[in-house]
Amino acid sequence: MASFNLAVIKGDGIGPEIVDEALKVLEAIGEKYDHKFNFTEVAAGGCAIDCCGQCLPKETVDICKASDSVILGAVGGPKWDNVPGDQRPERALLGLRENLGLYANLRPAIIHNALSDASPIKKEIVGDSLDILIVRELTGGIYFGDRGYRDGKYGTEAYDTEAYSEMEIRRIAKVAFEAAMSRDKRLTSVDKANVLESSRFWRKTIIDMAKEYPEVTLDHMYVDNAAMQLVRNPKHFDVIVTSNIFGDILSDEASQITGSIGMLPSASIGEGAFGMYEPIHGSAPDIAGQNIANPIATILSMAMMLRYTFKLDDEANAIEAAVTKVLNDGFRTADIATKGVQAIGTKQMGELIIKALN
Ligand code: NAD
Repeated sequence: MASFNLAVIKGDGIGPEIVDEALKVLEAIGEKYDHKFNFTEVAAGGCAIDCCGQCLPKETVDICKASDSVILGAVGGPKWDNVPGDQRPERALLGLRENLGLYANLRPAIIHNALSDASPIKKEIVGDSLDILIVRELTGGIYFGDRGYRDGKYGTEAYDTEAYSEMEIRRIAKVAFEAAMSRDKRLTSVDKANVLESSRFWRKTIIDMAKEYPEVTLDHMYVDNAAMQLVRNPKHFDVIVTSNIFGDILSDEASQITGSIGMLPSASIGEGAFGMYEPIHGSAPDIAGQNIANPIATILSMAMMLRYTFKLDDEANAIEAAVTKVLNDGFRTADIATKGVQAIGTKQMGELIIKALN
């Protein structure tokens, strides 16, 4: 029996409710496939400010580092609105990424067949379903580059710097090429190589890396064109790899194309496939504690964890198939329910997915 040690950060708002359902799904997977998942709950975000006086206690970082993978609900909420900027609950996310060396962010934008009406894009463009994976570099580029103020031609000016080393490009490219190999073997690298030197280096390095993945069809797209093609012809894309800032913007655009924030998982990956898995949405304080939040994004994040960190493809596929079955059977939480459909609660959705697994 394989045994996995998982650090669990439930966080704030709907975090505890949705993570509870995800953990139950993992336990069901454990029973079905003979794995043992050991959970250690740790605090981060607003609840950590309340219990321990800081949004990311050292103990949390230590336990996350010592675990095989991290599960996160969501952090933040109006209760901590007046906390100074550098101590806000959301700072815990940056601290976790930095301390755990999570340099690759994987965000699928998936439209399930049963929810194709939720997309704001015309049906003839998205079709019945869509499945794009955005691989965003997470610890480099302009968000971490040299910055400051200086005397410029027109007086004081502020500046930020985009810089990428070959090592940083190669390691994110490896994640993207390997993800493409496990999917439809198509990779689009997004840059701004017509203007930026850092993008020309990015493109050159990606082209060099492509020699190691002859089965993957690689193309390149300028970021402005990619932003257009995502709404004009989203089916062009299988896997997209791009820099920190371009990925930040394009992954939000792609998530909107799906039309349902409560459905989308994400993974942040570091060395040795160590990862932190979380829904893309926030702590939704407006619906917290009411048993109405959609747990599917968090449950699908567990599928990503099984696939990317533990290489358990059958188990990951089983979770995804169970979610698809429950949706195809017509069950909906309030956020994805259409007119006239009786919405079910967070717990009931979790229970139905477990039932579909078995
Ligand atoms: P949000 O994603 O929490 O909520 C936006 C809207 O979507 C709300 O109407 C909410 O009810 C709804 N929603 C979100 N997730 C849902 C789900 N699973 N089921 C049903 N409906 C859902 O974004 P926000 O309101 O801008 O932010 C709320 C708090 O979350 C803020 O403090 C913000 O900083 C924080 N936040 C945290 C993370 C994170 O922890 N990774 C990410 C984004 C925002």
